Amino acid sequence: MDARTNILGITRKNFEALADLGPGRSRALGFLYKAAFREGRFEPEGLAISREAAGSLCSRFHLALPQLVEVVEEEGELGTTAKALLRLEDGACIECVRIPVPHRGSGSATATLCLSSQVGCRMACAFCETGRSGLTRNLSAAEIVAQLVIVRLKLGWDISNLVFMGMGEPLDNFEAVAISLAVFLDSSGLGFAQEDLTLCTVGLDSGIRRLRGLGYKRLNLSVSLNAPDDLVRTALMPVNTAVDLASLAESLARYPQRKNFALGVNYCLIPGLNDGPGAAEGIAAFLAKAALPGRALVNLIPYNPGSEPVGRAPRAEELDAFEARLKDLGIQVKRRAPRGLSLMAACGQLGGKVRANP
Ligand code: SF4
Repeated sequence: MDARTNILGITRKNFEALADLGPGRSRALGFLYKAAFREGRFEPEGLAISREAAGSLCSRFHLALPQLVEVVEEEGELGTTAKALLRLEDGACIECVRIPVPHRGSGSATATLCLSSQVGCRMACAFCETGRSGLTRNLSAAEIVAQLVIVRLKLGWDISNLVFMGMGEPLDNFEAVAISLAVFLDSSGLGFAQEDLTLCTVGLDSGIRRLRGLGYKRLNLSVSLNAPDDLVRTALMPVNTAVDLASLAESLARYPQRKNFALGVNYCLIPGLNDGPGAAEGIAAFLAKAALPGRALVNLIPYNPGSEPVGRAPRAEELDAFEARLKDLGIQVKRRAPRGLSLMAACGQLGGKVRANP
């Protein structure tokens, strides 16, 4: 492993502080920083600085991108869903997914990149491929950011939004995820707006508290609910024994809810498991405690059976009926089209390919 600092994992301010080249070098370092994120280049030798200063930078910093192993694509109504398999420096593999999103107004397509934050995951959600593999290790901030840089540079993916919803639980790798947020938001490099970033969690309350402590007022948050009550949620998501629905709703209610904030609530519909009588009412009761009135949006996601199914995929009429039940209770619902089914790129489906093809 390279002992030098990967520039993709630090903010411009920290880069300048660590570079410590003395006064008058800020412009050159800013140029170097921008080129790293926008062009995937780290070439201090080409800068208008002394050979000694360039050598010093090269000895302490580098730019490492993962190896692009495979890309699989699937055409859908909104565009191409694609999954990239990446190999990291130590040989571990992760995946990130390009999800097409229609551009409001113009009709031209843009995309969200679903990022991984860990190799594997220790949350062990019953419906999730990644959860079955357990946690191998956390990703570094640079490895998180590098997913965006490589798909833009090598695959030409036009990414406008980022969501931490790939492999891993982002709040279980808080430090690295927090640094990666700062890097994504750094206007000297990638320059995303807070509104363009969404962190999706199973609901680790200490992590939500720490995230709140970072002071971002416009960062989006979504939670994987997937159950109407503690009994069902504990069966599907073991984390519920540590943070039950009441505690989760309490910590979500304290998250900054700006004027146009909508708490994302992901609900993966598994017929016979989480769509029974009272399920819609259970969700409504949770939302009433977790978000201000009208400030929650339920993403209804059809279950996509993986290699070890816990149920079957819902039929269209079952999804229609559940959506109608939620809407009758005044809940805003967005139906997630079953994009990426054949790619195993849908929610909770990352990780199988990694194990099968390391
Ligand atoms: S759904 Fe998310 S949190 Fe749960 S096991 Fe899978 S990757 Fe981990």
